[in-house]
Amino acid sequence: MTIRAVRGVHDILPGEGEKWRRVERIARDVFDSYGYEEIRLPIFERTELFARTIGEATDIVQKEMYTFEDAGGRSLTLRPEGTAPVCRAYLEHGMHKLAQPVKLWYLSSFFRYERAQAGRYRQFWQIGAEAIGSDDPAVDAETIVLLADLLDAVGARDVRLRISSLGSPEARAAYRAELQAHLREHRAELSSDVRERIDLNPLRAFDADDPGTREVMAGAPRLLDRLSDEDAEHFAEVRALLDRAGVAYEVDSTLVRGLDYYTRTVFEFESAALGAQSGVGGGGRYDGLVEALGGPPAPGCGWAAGIERILLASDDAGGAVSGPPTSTPPVDLFVAFTDLTRRADAFGLTAEARRAGLGAQMELAGRSLKGQLKQADRVGARFVAILSVAGAALKDMESGEQRDVDRVAVLREVLRGRGAA
Ligand code: AMP
Repeated sequence: MTIRAVRGVHDILPGEGEKWRRVERIARDVFDSYGYEEIRLPIFERTELFARTIGEATDIVQKEMYTFEDAGGRSLTLRPEGTAPVCRAYLEHGMHKLAQPVKLWYLSSFFRYERAQAGRYRQFWQIGAEAIGSDDPAVDAETIVLLADLLDAVGARDVRLRISSLGSPEARAAYRAELQAHLREHRAELSSDVRERIDLNPLRAFDADDPGTREVMAGAPRLLDRLSDEDAEHFAEVRALLDRAGVAYEVDSTLVRGLDYYTRTVFEFESAALGAQSGVGGGGRYDGLVEALGGPPAPGCGWAAGIERILLASDDAGGAVSGPPTSTPPVDLFVAFTDLTRRADAFGLTAEARRAGLGAQMELAGRSLKGQLKQADRVGARFVAILSVAGAALKDMESGEQRDVDRVAVLREVLRGRGAA
């Protein structure tokens, strides 16, 4: 029996690498231009970090975390998301003492034990941004425009943005009770799943698919209508700024995000080019998160976007991601040898060529000279050096011309030939 990869994970094979690199490159450029700095954090954290911030009653904490005990008896969890770890690091490294907001981005993989299906994995990759230390609505708008720009730059198709506001925790608590009353009143029409979660997580009912629940939710009170004046004003300002930046959106009062730490602005980008799993990226404001971790008040806002989904949403025959491949690094020199006694010399020449800044490869599989020339052609080598007992020859793969050269002159000849090309 061969050992196969675990369910829900995927390999990124060499042929796909360029697509990934392209998205990463574009993300880096966009983040640079917005003044974000990269942060790289551990793959696992204390379980408590996620339980305390994401919320005990959420799907992630209840059923999706990869939690394990290490040999020292600590409960650790493979990170299911990036915001809580970034806030942990912000606090731990005293970033609240820097000029605010601190703008950070990351590109890493995350882990959730979800039902695996097209576009949904148990290990997946996210690009994320967090701006911590300001509650200015311009921060919300800037992070949203940033993601819109990024999706545009990679060529994601048919993208739609929905936004809403969850208000303050107080408004949300009062609303929650009101929503629970509504759900209890219509208990019989709800799916069993939603019915079971009336006490624990009533807002999730907005995400339900079954017709009965959807009908009940259509008549449900909306949090957006229960915002405090201050929160409503904040939301209006975010919308005005998006309008000013020319970013189209729909206000969707049914938008709830599956994590407890959100306050005020929440948003989601979807692509109609995707199937059932249409979410490309989403996020929102989390004004109490740093404080919940024991820090000073440090309101923040951010998002995460799935790289697999971005690729799916951008991928078509002529699509930007699968478009003209950017150049693979050139192979200036392929070092061949006709006799095993020349192998060490070939190895030395290859190393020397690389140190001189050339793209160099050597024969590694014991091929015949004919096979080696074929291999050199396959990798797109510009020159082939052929080392033999008699000496050295240099073949120009462009002209096909081959001539004997002094062994000590090989590198100089290649450097000159390359310069001339
Ligand atoms: P979330 O952290 O749940 O708001 O997710 C943000 C984005 O990450 C989503 O819009 C997806 O693009 C991506 N994402 C979340 N979960 C998964 C998953 N299990 N597999 C692939 N992508 C995911």
